[in-house]
Amino acid sequence: MHKVDRISQIEAKMRTGVLASYQFLGTDERSLAEILTADQFSVDSLGLTHQDLAKWLTACLRLAEANLGTPFAVGNRFLIQIDEHKGTIACPFGDNYHAPKRNVTVTNLKHNLTLCFSELNIHLIEEHGFYEGEGSPYRINPHTVVQMFGGGQLWVIS
Ligand SMILES: [Zn+2]
Repeated sequence: MHKVDRISQIEAKMRTGVLASYQFLGTDERSLAEILTADQFSVDSLGLTHQDLAKWLTACLRLAEANLGTPFAVGNRFLIQIDEHKGTIACPFGDNYHAPKRNVTVTNLKHNLTLCFSELNIHLIEEHGFYEGEGSPYRINPHTVVQMFGGGQLWVIS
């Protein structure tokens, strides 16, 4: 099967049935293929990879996991909090990946910016280069991630 056909099939599942309730595509009228292409372009133009962005989000998740329940400060720069819910959510790309339903909120205190993402977001970005559609409650703008974590510099957590 062609890759484009496969993407169309995944898109159909995101727009109907159980998967639609997660609003992966939000109110975006572009096709899934167009959304993927546009975000690929954004990340390329930032000189980064999807894996770079996923790495920063994963670092926040790991820190939050270690400090469940209370907002956790990283120096005087970030405040991180995690909210856990029961159950898991399946990756819409049909690879049998299930993420725990956990949401992480990170605030960059210096720039007064807040970013919310789910554990599934990390997988979607890392494995599929998918940042969700405009209007989705879990849409992650690659530029916002870079503003949060300081662009080309690798934010290392010790
Ligand atoms: Zn997946």
